[in-house]
Amino acid sequence: MALRNVAVLGATGSIGGSTLDVVARHPERFRATVLTAHRQVEALAELCVRHRPQLAVIADPSLEAELARRLAAAGVRCEVASGMEAIAAAAAGPLCDTVVAAIVGAAGLDSTLAAARAGKRLLLANKESIVMAGELLLEALRAGGGELIPVDSEHNAIFQCLPGGRPDLRGSGVRRLILTASGGPFRGRTRAQLAGVTPDQACRHPKWSMGRKISVDSATLMNKGLEVIEAHHLFGAGADAIEVLVHPQSLVHSLVEYVDGSVLAQLGNPDMRTAIAHALAWPGRVEAGVAPLDLAASAPLAFEPPDLATFRCLALAFQALRAGGDAPAVLNAANEVAVDAFLAGALPFLSIADVVEGVLAELTAQPVVDVQTLRERDQTARDAARRILRNAC
Ligand code: NAD
Ligand code: MG
Repeated sequence: MALRNVAVLGATGSIGGSTLDVVARHPERFRATVLTAHRQVEALAELCVRHRPQLAVIADPSLEAELARRLAAAGVRCEVASGMEAIAAAAAGPLCDTVVAAIVGAAGLDSTLAAARAGKRLLLANKESIVMAGELLLEALRAGGGELIPVDSEHNAIFQCLPGGRPDLRGSGVRRLILTASGGPFRGRTRAQLAGVTPDQACRHPKWSMGRKISVDSATLMNKGLEVIEAHHLFGAGADAIEVLVHPQSLVHSLVEYVDGSVLAQLGNPDMRTAIAHALAWPGRVEAGVAPLDLAASAPLAFEPPDLATFRCLALAFQALRAGGDAPAVLNAANEVAVDAFLAGALPFLSIADVVEGVLAELTAQPVVDVQTLRERDQTARDAARRILRNAC
């Protein structure tokens, strides 16, 4: 079995850490050759000591010298670089054949696209990049000749439930994709009960341990909305063929319903190492360090429809998907600004949906032309969101 050289973009994050855990369990199969981080220079240096990559990239150029100093002091011989362009170049470069896209937010777009264009095996966790630029990413993948294996647990589950992992629904007898959602920390609450919730409460997810941005998205259900758009692009499913089902235990990670009435599901404990190990080893399997699933101890499994009136972000994401064009990119940009403001204590939880709704109403959907236009649109949507925020506060 050939050794996979893995670039972990966003190595200091939650997905990055889970990836490195799986990689370290199989030194004969995987090697972390490139590690990147935003500003966590100490954490990145520590990861380099442990995993001995060939290249470490810090996004903030002002921290490059410190990274080099720390690595030299620790006796680690590894190339050092900085800046977002260096991250994208590393994703496309010769040091890796596999790229784990685990940067959070639109900041991950360039490196995700670069890996796709370069024909790498792309393990996609950074859902914001496919939400923003789905068509362009798929085009880049086709041109590069590589493969995308979804790491988002729901999409990884669907990938596993499709014949031969086939990423295209046409002609496969699929009727519906059913994405499960835990419902987040505020499941069952009324709008009145959500008015005063704090960032720490929103980030205390009952089932998954994740970065703060995706934790807030899980609390608003925007995470599921982004995942609906992600599923649309990954599997070629229309909005009407994607359903969201709340499943608080987070053991059924998603389901595929076929025209003959069969429904296939993928189950497992809520631990991202399963999806990451699957995507790294596909079409094989490797041990992931995840405890075996004890279904008898977890019974009964519960399912319920999502509450779209309370968690409006999910409805807004469906609206953006149906509007098409660059509406999903606008939705994503507005959401990133609103979530940042909520995490900074500058916006109430329920107003996240108001900001997103306001920006979607202001910027009607335009066709997606190219990355440059999309980036400008992303900026326009962020400006509009900040203006709405200023007026609201
Ligand atoms: P995190 O906040 O824990 O980690 C983010 C990583 O990205 C860090 O290494 C950080 O240094 C890096 N980063 C942040 N901003 C950056 C920037 N501007 N430039 C360069 N690097 C930057 O986030 P996470 O929970 O690991 O999530 C990462 C991505 O994976 C997100 O898109 C998220 O939606 C997706 N995802 C996460 C989970 C999960 O369980 N955590 C599950 C499914 C999908
Ligand atoms: Mg998910």
